[in-house]
Amino acid sequence: MIGIFLFVISVFFSAGAIALELKGKFTQGALIIGTAEPESLVTLNGNPLPILPNGKFVFGLSRDSGPTVLVMVRNKNGQIKKQTLKVRKRVYKEQKIFGLPQRKVIPEKRDYKRIAHERGLIDVARRLMTYDADFDDGFVWPVFGIISSVYGSRRILNGEPRAPHLGVDIAAPSGTAVVAAADGGVSLTHENMFFTGKTVQLNHGLGVGTIYIHLSKVMVKKGQKVKKGQVIGRVGKTGRATGSHLHWGLTWKTLRLDPSLLVGPMPSVNPK
Ligand SMILES: [Zn+2]
Repeated sequence: MIGIFLFVISVFFSAGAIALELKGKFTQGALIIGTAEPESLVTLNGNPLPILPNGKFVFGLSRDSGPTVLVMVRNKNGQIKKQTLKVRKRVYKEQKIFGLPQRKVIPEKRDYKRIAHERGLIDVARRLMTYDADFDDGFVWPVFGIISSVYGSRRILNGEPRAPHLGVDIAAPSGTAVVAAADGGVSLTHENMFFTGKTVQLNHGLGVGTIYIHLSKVMVKKGQKVKKGQVIGRVGKTGRATGSHLHWGLTWKTLRLDPSLLVGPMPSVNPK
């Protein structure tokens, strides 16, 4: 009897409230997927977010985001709901890497133009806004291997302080297949970028993207649609890398997030 009573109460309350669901790990570096009523207006810290006809929207929490963010929803009847999200703070370690070619750490003057041009290409692909919901069907590891560098680490390369590591490095033998982490469209391919070498970038809708770098082979073309699990390239060590590994990145617009938060633990690749 009590169970039935509580059920009725909850239906009664939800009839008068605005529906808002937020899914994800509320921690720095996370991608959050939200659902509001169709035709709602949604803002994050006062900035409007694109919303799909089914009410889905997304946003990212940067490496240094927090301590809170404010999500506000106004439905088509003008009812408003505000939700303050607490963002869990993470502790980032320092990582020292030696043995990189010195020119990849301290580029020469003649490299500047090329680096700026390539950053521009990646940025344009990251800003691509499509109204697809491919981000909403789950992600998989693009390759299995030992995680050799995690998201967020402060980095000292050949003794020089550099930008934090905003992706996940997975060590795997050169030539290992790299698969698309989710359905999407190919927003960029490149055969030889200064830092990232052979590069593939995918977009998964509403500004969510993934990038796969240091490849030995690119196996897709710009504009092509890919399915989750489809082979898009092969592991390599092109660009700024000391050994063969995949650097896997996740972005929401130009914000770089932690892709490992979207997938389960890395399966053991060396069973004893
Ligand atoms: Zn990396």
